[in-house]
Amino acid sequence: MVEGEILVVEDLRKYFKTAQGVVRAVDGISFSIKEGETFGLVGESGSGKSTTAFTIMGVYEPTGGRIFFKGKPLIGGVKKRPLSLKKDMQMVFQDPGSSLNPRKSIREIIELPLKVHKLYRGKERKRAEELLRMVGLPVEFLDRYPRAIGGGEKQLVAIARALATEPSFIALDEPTSALDVSMQAKIINTLLRIQEELNLSYLFITHNLSLMRNVASRVGIMYLGKLLEVAPASEFFHKPLHPYTKMLLSSVPVITEEEEKLKPKKIVSRGEIPSPVNVPPGCTFHPRCPECMEVCSKKEPVMIEIEPGHTVKCHLFNS
Ligand code: SF4
Repeated sequence: MVEGEILVVEDLRKYFKTAQGVVRAVDGISFSIKEGETFGLVGESGSGKSTTAFTIMGVYEPTGGRIFFKGKPLIGGVKKRPLSLKKDMQMVFQDPGSSLNPRKSIREIIELPLKVHKLYRGKERKRAEELLRMVGLPVEFLDRYPRAIGGGEKQLVAIARALATEPSFIALDEPTSALDVSMQAKIINTLLRIQEELNLSYLFITHNLSLMRNVASRVGIMYLGKLLEVAPASEFFHKPLHPYTKMLLSSVPVITEEEEKLKPKKIVSRGEIPSPVNVPPGCTFHPRCPECMEVCSKKEPVMIEIEPGHTVKCHLFNS
């Protein structure tokens, strides 16, 4: 483990047995997250990015591989993890509507983790007020119920609840995708401000590449359970290497002329993401790749480092 890294994932695998066959939802991925940074995981629906977050958080037990948090291995699923670890690692889910108990008041929702972890005893209300202020909500919200507030406000309550235990790491699973654009901006600004104030580390999961440009310090791109490219955000957007990254970036809307010049030429996608129970041999992207070569359907490429911190898994770069 390199100094300054809070989370290290090595060869992580999570397979599910289904009636149709084995789904390799996460299939041998490795990456790390540094203290105080946002690592963005991007991919189309079904790429395995949410399963990666759920496995790191212990919702699923890994099929294989290793996860280290603050230098210590995480063993098994959430039931086997010590309470201190659950306090230090939190998660915010995509749908704030279903992640908040409709029968509990906002105060009860935020105070629950304080009670579970025996924090701020006798001062729970004061702490709940402080958390609401931290996320930019009025303290009067404490006596309301989730049904009486909007979707964006619900997500801010979910963020306040995640912050209650003073974690150092938060997994954010598509935290803005269910919200309108103005509320998305408010949530992102709140997350970035809090990160700066508390030196939090984020795993930020989204299918929205434009959003990643403003949020992540480093980005990893997933496809059919595998990581295809990892790079610092500036290189990822200005010097993408993998044909799949280029394909996705070529369809991202940009605002400035400078961004338009840097954008890869429009690459038309060949077909849809294949079924995860019937993954193509060799490079899993080969049926859709405009640069596919003979070797690509026969042999899986290995991940190699092209520049410090910029790795890619493609035969175009495997000599
Ligand atoms: Fe395309 Fe081949 Fe690279 Fe896969 S390995 S992305 S098929 S060029």
